[in-house]
Amino acid sequence: MSSNKFCEILIVGAGTSGSVVATRLAQAGFNVTLIEAGPDFGPQKENRWPSEIVDDKFVGEETDFDWGYTAKLGSKEIRYLRGKIVGGSSAINASGINWGLKNDYDEWKKLGLTNWDFDSMLPFFKKVENLKDRNYSDISRGTSGELQVSRQKAEGAYFKSFIETCKNRGYNFIDATGPDSSEGYGFVTRNSVNGKREHPSKVYLDQVRGLKNFSIIANCEVIRIIWKNKKAQAVEALHNNKRIVINTDHLILCSGSVGSPTLLQRSGIGPYELLKELDFLTSESKIIDGVGKNLQDHFGIRFSYLPSKYGMQNIDWGQSESMRIRLKEKSEDVGHNLTLSSFVGSHIKNNEELASHANRIQFVTWLVKPISVGYLKIASTNYQIDPVINFQFNNEQDIESLLFALKFAKKFISEEPIKKWIDQSSGLQNIANKKDIINWINDNLSYYYHMVGTCRMGNELDDGSVVNERGLVHGFDNMYIFDASIMPQIPRGMLNLTVFTIAEKMAKHFIEKY
Ligand SMILES: Cc1cc2nc3c(=O)[nH]c(=O)nc-3n(C[C@H](O)[C@H](O)[C@H](O)COP(=O)(O)OP(=O)(O)OC[C@H]3O[C@@H](n4cnc5c(N)ncnc54)[C@H](O)[C@@H]3O)c2cc1C
Repeated sequence: MSSNKFCEILIVGAGTSGSVVATRLAQAGFNVTLIEAGPDFGPQKENRWPSEIVDDKFVGEETDFDWGYTAKLGSKEIRYLRGKIVGGSSAINASGINWGLKNDYDEWKKLGLTNWDFDSMLPFFKKVENLKDRNYSDISRGTSGELQVSRQKAEGAYFKSFIETCKNRGYNFIDATGPDSSEGYGFVTRNSVNGKREHPSKVYLDQVRGLKNFSIIANCEVIRIIWKNKKAQAVEALHNNKRIVINTDHLILCSGSVGSPTLLQRSGIGPYELLKELDFLTSESKIIDGVGKNLQDHFGIRFSYLPSKYGMQNIDWGQSESMRIRLKEKSEDVGHNLTLSSFVGSHIKNNEELASHANRIQFVTWLVKPISVGYLKIASTNYQIDPVINFQFNNEQDIESLLFALKFAKKFISEEPIKKWIDQSSGLQNIANKKDIINWINDNLSYYYHMVGTCRMGNELDDGSVVNERGLVHGFDNMYIFDASIMPQIPRGMLNLTVFTIAEKMAKHFIEKY
């Protein structure tokens, strides 16, 4: 093993969070080394990036740039995609841009995170987001940030009927991906422009590539953190199949909701019972009970209907169009707990499951405020063995909520004027037979790759927490986590924008401290 490098700041993971943090720290003058297990294709202007990363219609199923994990969801074991490339999961994701609701972040404050309510985060959301073609009177959205965001088209005649049907029900037109409104219908927003993904390497890392104080080590997988007492001293990594050790002053994990807890556990930092079970407990182990626990994701179901004859003739299948309804199951709830999106056309490709819905009118319903909480734990200290990911989706209330959404969808598409577009007999059936539909939900349930919470933030008195409000791992002086894993609770919307925002905010705190 060769010990060949010393760093001031070592960041592990070049996904959404790692790209932002590395860029900001390098711009502030720190000497930054960014390690990434997957490949790097360099500056965007060199045009070396694979088309599947550049094209916003691609979602990661058929890619080589994935870790190949599986996860348990109810009685099933299915793939759990995670990007393994500079750009991370953001390089292979569906490019949806959503804020959580204001209330989601205010709840973080109620958990004791005084510096993480909506108002404290708002300037950072705005620093990230640059929403083009705004149609909202809403003032929360960012319009001058660095990440370009555009509204998905919904101009065809099918969506005119979709909108009319919403209006007939008394729904308001809202910013359906923003932080302010909970119920109503509106547009979907994406971090892509003219069909091209705005991924973190292009938007962030290209700003610092070439600086003397910044370097990327790609194809380099960290397998263990070497630490003593309160200090992370180095990482042991495999670089192009060669074991290396890299020493550092400060270690920042941006390895994502799977990568960060896995690395901690493999380095002897985790729950007592897990370290004991693996015969990995020593007098020097660091017991942090929350590592890998509190795993949360959004769950949902995709279903589709054949178009009616009228629909077949009048939908422009070459377009990529979508709209969304935010639904509140219980009127007394503060925010919506479900969304129902409708898609027509070629919005996503390269995916076997989605191909089965091609040329159909598609719907996705999402449970955005689930109750089920799962866990991640390493099965072995051997880095070649994948961690166990179990969503423990077994909460009856969660299943009832999905049932509510399916019943809503079935009723909605039978109303005027949307009904003329859809062959009502071709999609969801037997909705009245609860047993059948619950079985169907369990068979068709999926998660949306929005995992958070596996290294959650909290103060030192908060037993289940792993890092403090500044991302510092409890019990350490120089090891931080700044990625999606630190969210204490999942926001009601896709996550990437919140991850960019957390990374901007954490980078600022770090720069102020050092
Ligand atoms: C298929 C898919 C679709 C999604 N769709 C959407 C969407 O439409 N909208 C949305 O908002 N969100 C979406 N998401 C989620 C979103 O992309 C993630 O929440 C976000 O990218 C998380 O950022 P992160 O920095 O925490 O982790 P990541 O972006 O996953 O970055 C982690 C990086 O660390 C690297 N890494 C991990 N372990 C190691 C190690 N040991 N050594 C070296 N490097 C390591 C990984 O290779 C990766 O590059 C999707 C995710 C996926 C996978």
